[in-house]
Amino acid sequence: MDQILKQIPRTPRLAHAPVGVSSRSRTVLVVGAGVSGLTTALCLGRRGFTTVVLADRFSPHVTSNVAGALWEWPPAVCGHQFDQASLERSKAWCETSYAIFSELSLDPATGVHLRPVTFYFSQPIGETPRALSKMEELRVRVANFRHDRALIAENEINPALGLRDAYSYLAPMVDTDTYMHWLMSQALDVGCRFVERKITGALREQEADLRREFDARTIVNCSGLGAAELAEDEVRPLRGALVRVRNDGRTTPRITQAHCISHTAGDGEEGFIFILPRGDERLVLGGFAELNQSGLDIGLHNHEPVRAMYRRCVEFLPALQHAVIDADEPVRVGLRPFRKANVRLEQEPNTRIIHNYGHGGSGVSFSWGTSLEATELVEALVAAGIRIRQRTRGWLKRYETCSTIRELLTWPENTRSSRPVIDRWLGNPPPRGISDAVATGRRARRQTVLRGGVQDILSRSNADGGDTLPESTMRRYKTTRPNGLVDYVAVE
Ligand SMILES: Cc1cc2nc3c(=O)[nH]c(=O)nc-3n(C[C@H](O)[C@H](O)[C@H](O)COP(=O)(O)OP(=O)(O)OC[C@H]3O[C@@H](n4cnc5c(N)ncnc54)[C@H](O)[C@@H]3O)c2cc1C
Repeated sequence: MDQILKQIPRTPRLAHAPVGVSSRSRTVLVVGAGVSGLTTALCLGRRGFTTVVLADRFSPHVTSNVAGALWEWPPAVCGHQFDQASLERSKAWCETSYAIFSELSLDPATGVHLRPVTFYFSQPIGETPRALSKMEELRVRVANFRHDRALIAENEINPALGLRDAYSYLAPMVDTDTYMHWLMSQALDVGCRFVERKITGALREQEADLRREFDARTIVNCSGLGAAELAEDEVRPLRGALVRVRNDGRTTPRITQAHCISHTAGDGEEGFIFILPRGDERLVLGGFAELNQSGLDIGLHNHEPVRAMYRRCVEFLPALQHAVIDADEPVRVGLRPFRKANVRLEQEPNTRIIHNYGHGGSGVSFSWGTSLEATELVEALVAAGIRIRQRTRGWLKRYETCSTIRELLTWPENTRSSRPVIDRWLGNPPPRGISDAVATGRRARRQTVLRGGVQDILSRSNADGGDTLPESTMRRYKTTRPNGLVDYVAVE
């Protein structure tokens, strides 16, 4: 780890945009140092948070270094993304990333290039509704879009394959080795600290300990495939590999654009075409997707699907016939963190854990979109507690952990002491959640105060011109935790 950090050049410090949070509430623990974790840490750092990135593996030993890494409009060429609702979210993430990667491509130090990619089809696109709607969505969002079957001949694609349609556009392509290095250096420059460690078991069980150890207000879980254990979720390996060939123009013409044929869902075929320039000197050839396979020791020497993938690419683009395979690293293998319902990006109920994992074959494409959204979730979570401290002129000045009544109710350490109060007040158990807890009469009045938690107590207090809730009321429902912190629940 120290070796890796030493190699990272320090670049000028980026401008911070502090959000006016107190020092204790500024620390966020990010679990995972792949593209999701590092981008999230960078976004948080740029918004004024102090971040600690904890991971058992760092670049170059993460899946993110293996990625192609072509920016793609969902679903990606490797397929396996079927959930319509999540596809819509993915599109928004991809749009955000496209804009940011386009900007980053102006700086060669990032390793991001904006280059043409052509997608090819065996049927006219107009005859395939899914391909047509994807193309219509794409054409208005990307630069230099062109729909033209003449691209097949222009790009010297094997005519024997009988391809009948194609479109191209400018897409971000990321040299992940350079980019991950750049991300780490940027994260360091905004004050991020790296800790090499493996967490075992469910994260929620260790939340309190980890937050105490790192003095962290919130945890963001960007553990990729590791989330199967950390979030006890069904995240499965979708194995892929890329053959690496030289692209220096010596034995084959230098290839300066990407070529793809998507995996077709349900066709029983796990292979697809994925040819992509990597930096200036390499070309990566893919691809395939093998679900539930987690062995990394596969290559041209021992795995027929890798050989078949290579043959497919050469047959598709005959110019590759004399390509020379990279002797130092002929094949790179990685496990896409596949989650059937797509990325999990949300707060885990009753915790201060934000999940950002399960990016499948699109982690690079999604990275800026998902990381910015995760950052917003952290800001919302932290801001809730801060406003409480700022506005209450002392009543709630020690309100440190629970931002909502729901959280207070279910927070295990606190439940013991506050339970009798809550029960007396809401009835036990509270019917259908807190917001439905009280419907009529005296209870309805109380509900007004409680709905949404302490935020509402405060806004009501503000609307009424200040301290309408007397301190004595607050104190009546005070609970003290073993660690000495004090919580207050305001009721009338
Ligand atoms: C062959 C291949 C080609 C691909 N091509 C593309 C492409 O063209 N475009 C694209 O967008 N995507 C592509 N991908 C997908 C992309 O690589 C992933 O979606 C992305 O890398 C996921 O990033 P991540 O940060 O979520 O996970 P990872 O990069 O896997 O990082 C996970 C991090 O969590 C840490 N961690 C996990 N468990 C624990 C634990 N218990 N304790 C501590 N730390 C833990 C790990 O050490 C690591 O640091 C491809 C993937 C493969 C394999």
